[in-house]
Amino acid sequence: MSCSGSTTCGMVNPKSFDAIDGTPIKYGSPEDYVRKTIKAERSFYAKLVDWIRTLRTFSGTYGPTTLRELRWIGHVGAYVCKDGCHGRGRAFDINRIQWIGEAVDMYSGDHASSDRTRRRRYLAVDACCRRYFKYTLDGWYNAQHTNHIHVDDHTVPILDRGSVSDTAFVQAVCNNFNGAGLRVDGVWGTATQEAFQELNRTWGYGGCDPFSSEVAYAEWCNFVMAHGFADRSASDVGYRSGVCWRWS
Ligand SMILES: [Zn+2]
Repeated sequence: MSCSGSTTCGMVNPKSFDAIDGTPIKYGSPEDYVRKTIKAERSFYAKLVDWIRTLRTFSGTYGPTTLRELRWIGHVGAYVCKDGCHGRGRAFDINRIQWIGEAVDMYSGDHASSDRTRRRRYLAVDACCRRYFKYTLDGWYNAQHTNHIHVDDHTVPILDRGSVSDTAFVQAVCNNFNGAGLRVDGVWGTATQEAFQELNRTWGYGGCDPFSSEVAYAEWCNFVMAHGFADRSASDVGYRSGVCWRWS
């Protein structure tokens, strides 16, 4: 995996689609969403299928009835001939997740909403992206991503303290689920480390290493998804890890 290469753009085995695993995708913005067939690398599309299945499972299991049925995905494109992951058909820009009764609306900046429920649900979707896609770039990462979440599969999805994107995400999770009060600056310092440990003690995640194991990181993201879709604090224990949960 890597989106680097000798040429600027092109795909090895392109897949055309206007739905992901049966869920329609719509291109544009709230004023002009339109069903449109787009292209991506086939192996990348397969990851989108895994992603959407996990999204359906967690929102349906932990969310209210308004999140029980996923209706469509809003986006602003996948393949485009330029350098990097979009130019390899290995990136996708998501700006809305629409369920039967509610949405996570990246386009309108739900990450910065005054409503904590909206921020938590945004983080749940963000976490689902991070299970499958590194890099995931969200509204906390930089100004360019305040109206969509970018996902690509450039590298292995494990947590990295040196990554601004990963660190800002962890800081936002600590703040929104455990009242950490961190500055979301993407720098993993002492306060972030302590808040991360406190969060994990509180919601019962421990015993394996999200910094070296994809399975362990996916499981950490599951905690964020379960609490996010349920709109629960870390101390309101609602998710028990089948992978690395332990008594502590
Ligand atoms: Zn992008």
